[in-house]
Amino acid sequence: MKACYQSFITPKKNQYICLMLIMLWHSSSWAATSWSLVTTPKALGSTAQSIGSYTNGCISGASALPINGAGYQLMRLSRQRMYGHPVLTHFIQQLGERVAQEKIGVLLIGDLGQPRGGPTLTGHRSHQTGLDVDIWFLHSQQAQERLLSSAERETMQAASVVKTHSAELNLAQWTVRQEKVLHIAAQMPEVERIFVNPVIKRELCKRYNAAQWLRKIRPWWKHDDHFHVRIACPANNTHCEKQAPLPMDSGCDAGLAWWFSAEASKPAAKAQQPSLPPPLPLLCKELLH
Ligand SMILES: [Zn+2]
Repeated sequence: MKACYQSFITPKKNQYICLMLIMLWHSSSWAATSWSLVTTPKALGSTAQSIGSYTNGCISGASALPINGAGYQLMRLSRQRMYGHPVLTHFIQQLGERVAQEKIGVLLIGDLGQPRGGPTLTGHRSHQTGLDVDIWFLHSQQAQERLLSSAERETMQAASVVKTHSAELNLAQWTVRQEKVLHIAAQMPEVERIFVNPVIKRELCKRYNAAQWLRKIRPWWKHDDHFHVRIACPANNTHCEKQAPLPMDSGCDAGLAWWFSAEASKPAAKAQQPSLPPPLPLLCKELLH
């Protein structure tokens, strides 16, 4: 887009295309603004429906995750990203209960989605259909002892578990606690994928000898201070667009090695997303208005 703005002071031949792109760009950020201004969920029918794809969709009949529950506390309350499909909010509560039962600690929950899902102005390309949640890796002793204040939930920082320059786990932040949580989450049937930094996946492959439960743990850029759980399209959500199924193996193979190649670190590899989003499904327009 920057090149587009520059084109107005250099050659003329791309100006028309650039003008169109800029208009689309502004209309897409306008669309994101509309979704972020909505403060309540809305239901088009009697059951909750995730509509469209994880990166281009919305959620009808979302429920709000209570801000505290057994084994978890919700962070960044001011962002109002505590909404999701009831299957997602139920999953988080179940995971928290397991974590509490096994005395692993308290999960700090980051973003789910907006009240009706849809594109956001900041932070995410996915999380649009109420089926994604970010969970911090940080283990907080304070959260284990008491409820965090609203101010703490705004200002506490999610520490990275990966050393910035050496592609190794930061063992000051990483303990067996995080491994236990990932293990429990990966075994829950509604979970389809869990995104973590490639360094974490590589370390888990080593420590657990490429065990089958690692299959759902997927390497992805960033995800060094939180993991991202993606729930499969719920039953009877006919407008929910599924992703291609995962390969059956643990993913501790050549595919993982690619993440540590020179090619993976090129900017072109990181920019896998189109610069302009496609139009949202028609049902989402109905949901917004
Ligand atoms: Zn996420």
